[in-house]
Amino acid sequence: MAFNYNWNRRTFLGTLGALLGTLFSGRMAFALPPKARDKAAPLSGFGSTGNVYEELGVTTVINGQGTMTVLGGSLMRPEVEAVMAMAGRHFVSIPDLEVAAGKRIVEMLKLPEGYGAIVTSGAAAAMQSGLAGILTGDNPKFIEQLPDLTGLKSEVIIQKSHRNPFDHQLRSTGVKLVVIESREDLKKAINPQTAMMHFTNFADNEGQIKAEEWVKLAHENQIPAFIDAAADTPPVSRLWDFANMGYDLIAFSGGKAIRGPQCAGLLIGKKDLVAYALLNNSPHEDTLGRSQKVGKEEIVGMVKALESYLKEDHDALNKEWQRRLDYISGQITRIPGVTTSFPAPEIANHVPHMHIKWDSARIALTPREAAAALRSGKPSIVLASGEHGEVLSMNSFMLQPGEEKIIAQELGKVLKSHAA
Ligand SMILES: *Cc1c(COP(=O)(O)O)cnc(C)c1O
Repeated sequence: MAFNYNWNRRTFLGTLGALLGTLFSGRMAFALPPKARDKAAPLSGFGSTGNVYEELGVTTVINGQGTMTVLGGSLMRPEVEAVMAMAGRHFVSIPDLEVAAGKRIVEMLKLPEGYGAIVTSGAAAAMQSGLAGILTGDNPKFIEQLPDLTGLKSEVIIQKSHRNPFDHQLRSTGVKLVVIESREDLKKAINPQTAMMHFTNFADNEGQIKAEEWVKLAHENQIPAFIDAAADTPPVSRLWDFANMGYDLIAFSGGKAIRGPQCAGLLIGKKDLVAYALLNNSPHEDTLGRSQKVGKEEIVGMVKALESYLKEDHDALNKEWQRRLDYISGQITRIPGVTTSFPAPEIANHVPHMHIKWDSARIALTPREAAAALRSGKPSIVLASGEHGEVLSMNSFMLQPGEEKIIAQELGKVLKSHAA
């Protein structure tokens, strides 16, 4: 399948039709409910133009910032949309489906013996229900009582540089985060109330204790270790590296580089802990995780997304992403004073990135102003301008075919219009 895919009704239904045609040809078609057979029926009313966003009056953007949840994460491959549509045609036991999908995921990723997986509504949900499961086990009373921790362990240890907004999901279980920096701090912090040791993978280079040592120290103290690896593919090997390292629980986003359903994620881990996490999650009602419902469509879509992601030619993708940036760089560095550099993050969103700078004496515009001008332009383009507005930066892995040309052209216009 082509990497890039412009979503519209015709291509979606076309792909779906083709897939259903192959899968359910001949005799099989009669076994399908009527709805599945009238797949080509044209839409009327909402959606009939093929652009639901335009119909609602919301502007779509060209995404040069990456897999940002606030922009919709990523775009699913057509075959993922197709299996989600198939999933939506039948009723099924969700707990049974979770177990079966988990089994398939474990096989696909060739995870070590004793590992299981479930599909959650995202990496954030995997963090909350993973920790909830560690706290409660399979005790129904404990599951119902969360976030009241009476009678339960109540502390999670985390390195100071690993704190980030997503640890709210850990705190939502009622636990206290015990923040440490050194190995000495860690030794002192461990006590009978310690439920888990949490590791944020993107912060690996910032903490004194690295991923491999963290899990080792946790296990020396009989404490389960969790790693948040939400945005840590590529490389694809991350999907099994942390299980091989021995981490008890591992969270990934489904709707980032894997391009699964936007409301999906993976919780991978020791079978018993994954089972306890599921007990703390939807569809079970008197649970903390009931608010993180994951549907049959997302569960099935996540299986397909992983299958496609594993088959992808990752080197070729990387080259294509770099080619797009090189194209933009080639165009805009023709403007006197404009320079580019390519500092890819080592961990998390490990894909080609580009920083764009210019001589402010020649072009009277801050990076933030440039980003704002692109955002309010037509078409609207989203690039980043750094936490402190210090540099205009972008990546290209969420661009659709040809969008690199539009970015080069529009950014060129903005820069030239402020040139002395
Ligand atoms: C995106 C992200 C999350 C949340 O993932 P979702 O799949 O959107 O729930 C958690 N942690 C980190 C580090 C992330 O980048």
